[in-house]
Amino acid sequence: MKCTTTTIRNVLTRTTGYLKTVSSHSVQPYRGCSFGRSLCGVGCYVRHNAYVTQGRPWGEFLEIRENAAASYSANVRREAAWARRQGGRFGIFLSSSTEPFLPQEFRYGVTRGLLLAMLEEPPDVLILQTHSHRVVKYAELYTELLKKVELRVHLSIETDREEVPGLPPHASSVEQRLEAARALKSAGVPVVVTVSPLLPIAAPATFFERFAEVADAVVIDHFIEGDGTPDGRRTLRTGLPEAIAALDPEALELDYRERMAQVAQRYLPGRVGISIDGFAGRWREPGVAWRDA
Ligand code: SF4
Repeated sequence: MKCTTTTIRNVLTRTTGYLKTVSSHSVQPYRGCSFGRSLCGVGCYVRHNAYVTQGRPWGEFLEIRENAAASYSANVRREAAWARRQGGRFGIFLSSSTEPFLPQEFRYGVTRGLLLAMLEEPPDVLILQTHSHRVVKYAELYTELLKKVELRVHLSIETDREEVPGLPPHASSVEQRLEAARALKSAGVPVVVTVSPLLPIAAPATFFERFAEVADAVVIDHFIEGDGTPDGRRTLRTGLPEAIAALDPEALELDYRERMAQVAQRYLPGRVGISIDGFAGRWREPGVAWRDA
């Protein structure tokens, strides 16, 4: 794992593609991800982004953007004005191509610096997207931000299985992430569990029943339609489909998403989102199948 420090001209990236319907901007405190060799890194779509990797193996490099907070402060007024001129709100997705709460964060504090800068000049909406239970470490900052920003934490939990044969271990255990969700929700922080990408679930009823205790909503996101291609072709190039098929071949089909969504609806009625709609905070009405939504 090679860690280097770097600077960035404008940390506020205007979103394109599917993310455009979720927020006006994304922010990456790091380039690369030290979780890249863990389970989530196998199907991670960023590993296919040659602009980010520049030929380096995914999970083996991390560039620390040490001026990220200063860059936010220098650019925020112009970017907020641009977002509002587009007729929308100034929303930030933190992060779409790295993990904001990597172990290295607690040495370098890049995400923390950004959150402090946002307290000074807040966006309208802030979505914290994470695979790590360490997201709870900044809970006191979220409480302050919630006074100024519409904030929610998206915590990814792809399956109820602590181990998936054929795949490396999770970077954060399922249990640690569920406990993090519980702690945040208890502190009054809105939590959305993102089951993304959806992997075979051993006990769906128990899994989604627990979400109803620890989260405000759930997003179910299959790699088909969820990996930035309509047919999941990016993920089909990785080791993920083989591991899914070994556990439950039906989980390779898009209908599996619908079956799991129906179970989730029993425990979180009106608080289930499907793929990009869910990431954008659009929930499906109870009793409506995704094809009709
Ligand atoms: S934490 Fe996110 S960015 Fe990092 S490897 Fe996992 S899915 Fe990719």
